[in-house]
Amino acid sequence: MEMFECNSSGILKIINILKDIINIIKIAVPVILIILCMLELTKMVVGDVDNQAGNKKKIFSKVLAACVVFLVPTLVNMLINYLSGTDIKSTNCWKNANKEYIAKLEAEEKKLKEEILFAENTEREKTYEQRKQESLEIRKKIKASSSISTGAVGEIGGIPLNQRMNKLFPAGVPSTIAQMQPYLTTIKVNTIDKNGNEKERSLTVHKYIADEVKAVFDELLALKFPINYLSGYTWRVMASNSNSRSHHSYGVAIDINASSNAATYTSGTYKPGIDPYAVTPEIVNIWKKHGFYWGGDWTGHYFDPMHFTYTNH
Ligand SMILES: [Zn+2]
Repeated sequence: MEMFECNSSGILKIINILKDIINIIKIAVPVILIILCMLELTKMVVGDVDNQAGNKKKIFSKVLAACVVFLVPTLVNMLINYLSGTDIKSTNCWKNANKEYIAKLEAEEKKLKEEILFAENTEREKTYEQRKQESLEIRKKIKASSSISTGAVGEIGGIPLNQRMNKLFPAGVPSTIAQMQPYLTTIKVNTIDKNGNEKERSLTVHKYIADEVKAVFDELLALKFPINYLSGYTWRVMASNSNSRSHHSYGVAIDINASSNAATYTSGTYKPGIDPYAVTPEIVNIWKKHGFYWGGDWTGHYFDPMHFTYTNH
């Protein structure tokens, strides 16, 4: 029901104009009606005695109409002001649609716009080296605050890294799409965007890690961490090295919010704490708790913050 909270000066201005129009009608219509009554009275005084009863009736109905036109908006206004004291939000629209409140809101909106502009300009003026340095600092911080802990729902988190591929593929690592099929399952995960809209998404992963992945997304949803992109299983080579098979091919790597968690080989930026879709230490730790490694920890030639992997690959 956000739209009824009237947080924008635009909506309030329109309501304010409506209120002005109603106020004008409330005064002008009764005034016109009373002038007409006076004209009728003059007619009565001047003569035409035959029609006295008809004239009286006309005057009476005009006075009544004048009262109704004046009283109805007044009463409605009083009722709305009374309801504004309760928790019926939509009535605040009416109450807040006044010049002072709109001016206050406009000042706040202007200040916010200036702050955003300032932040954007500062960001634009940074050099490539500054950005690289910042990114390193952020990743160092996340690494320092994270730890592999026990909180996994299944056994997968506890298996040592060097045994994981054998455990996932006891009959040998698949070398074709067809060989990979029996190991895959498609799960449904509920996600939320930054505006609070929920969406059910499908994600194809290795059967063995499915429960753990579901548990991760339950935690992300509980924290209202927004998600606009998900990718699990894809049979492909590595984005950074075309001679190697990406572990997305084995259903054990998941990318989230690619454009906000850009890897070093893409042109995007990674701004945790500023971009709501960028993974933060808290989000990274949820994955780690469930036995996953984070591509953002890689210190080699590239790092990949969107990438969570069971095999650290
Ligand atoms: Zn990936």
